[in-house]
Amino acid sequence: MTKLSWTGFSKKTPHERLEHLTSNALLSHEDKEILNSKGLELATANQMAENVLSTLSLPFALAPDFQVNGKDYQLPMVTEEPSVVAAASYAAKLIKRSGGFKTEIHNRLMIGQVALFDVADKATASQAILNQKADLLDLANQAHPSILKRGGGSRDLWFEEKSDFLIVYLSVDTQEAMGANMVNTMMETLVPNLEELSGGQSLMAILSNYATESLVTATAAVDLRYLSRNKEEAQLFAKKMEMASQLAQVDPYRAATHNKGIFNGVDALVLATGNDWRAIEAGAHAYASRDDQYRGLSTWTYDKESQQIKGEITLPLPIATKGGSIGLNPTVQVAHDLLGNPSAKELAGLIAALGLAQNFAALKALTSTGIQAGHMKLQAKSLALLAGAKEDQVASLVSQLLKEKHMNLETAEKLLKKL
Ligand code: NDP
Repeated sequence: MTKLSWTGFSKKTPHERLEHLTSNALLSHEDKEILNSKGLELATANQMAENVLSTLSLPFALAPDFQVNGKDYQLPMVTEEPSVVAAASYAAKLIKRSGGFKTEIHNRLMIGQVALFDVADKATASQAILNQKADLLDLANQAHPSILKRGGGSRDLWFEEKSDFLIVYLSVDTQEAMGANMVNTMMETLVPNLEELSGGQSLMAILSNYATESLVTATAAVDLRYLSRNKEEAQLFAKKMEMASQLAQVDPYRAATHNKGIFNGVDALVLATGNDWRAIEAGAHAYASRDDQYRGLSTWTYDKESQQIKGEITLPLPIATKGGSIGLNPTVQVAHDLLGNPSAKELAGLIAALGLAQNFAALKALTSTGIQAGHMKLQAKSLALLAGAKEDQVASLVSQLLKEKHMNLETAEKLLKKL
């Protein structure tokens, strides 16, 4: 079998890129038609939210050639930010040449909680709840019996005393769904029994987005020779990348930006696959603060022995392939098709890998050329488009803009007039 080449993919037109995908059997003709159409119909959008007026489009791009656990994937990315897809693709290329990504799914359970207050004797209440644990797990399953048929269902029940609250937690295997609605239903079903057993009252019963039972780890290494052809310079970059990763562990100001870079990738794939990005963001930022200080979600270490820079990321990723709005948006379905319709666990691994790739590219740029060098060209392109340049004018306007001392919209408009 001949090896599929991605060289020059970024230079192609959108039409040529689609041709490349269909001619290599990575995209069906039906899916190509969907990508060429308007995507989400207004009538469908009107069913998804309230007071709908229209739909909002965003670029739907592709970061090709991610090797994850020995398999090649092309990752769809929905993002409005220039340079994000280019950075991810660049990192994926170096990581593939150095052995690819490895991912590990630690677990895939959702957690729900019932917060009880006015519990007179928390120790007695806890014991009473514990005595009924099996029945309570059963009751939760009866609230959403279809998940049992799919191999999921409630798994464990435990509690913690926090301030005035006795909080009861339930973990649930929600299979291919994110599980918010099914867990919420289960938690509400448990309320009368928990109130009776504890003698207290329920303040609320809902899923938690702090998905500590859905952790996913991705690891990757990059050979030093890909950091620079000059060995000493490559070693210096590797040391600086390690230091940059340490900085994000000790300084929340840096950690927030470090993690923003990770989410440039994570959100783009979460959005493309129709997942709830607010849920993923909330859970991951809570996880970044798990030891009471907000820290970077990834780490990089310089391994002198193997002459590699090694990265690792762990994120809570309760990702779905079914439910929510996933089946409603045709472009989202194309994203799943492009990925080969992975399971929720497999998809979560790909999302973690993309976050790590994005983080590698950002740290590499920051500790070598600086972030602006790569950004300025894309910034010039955005300005050219904003100024109203036509497709055939963009390239020459960009090259003129890059020579200017002050690159702004006013300059872009002046130069465009001259063109
Ligand atoms: P749904 O309510 O859509 O439930 C999942 C659906 O997927 C069910 O209808 C289920 O069918 C179906 N399904 C088909 N195949 C499978 C399978 N293999 N495994 C599991 N389910 C399958 O979605 P969720 O309960 O997942 O909730 C997610 C939605 O809730 C998102 O839109 C999210 O934005 C929103 N939400 C989020 C909250 C939060 O994050 N805090 C709070 C409230 C809502 P069946 O019923 O037959 O099993």
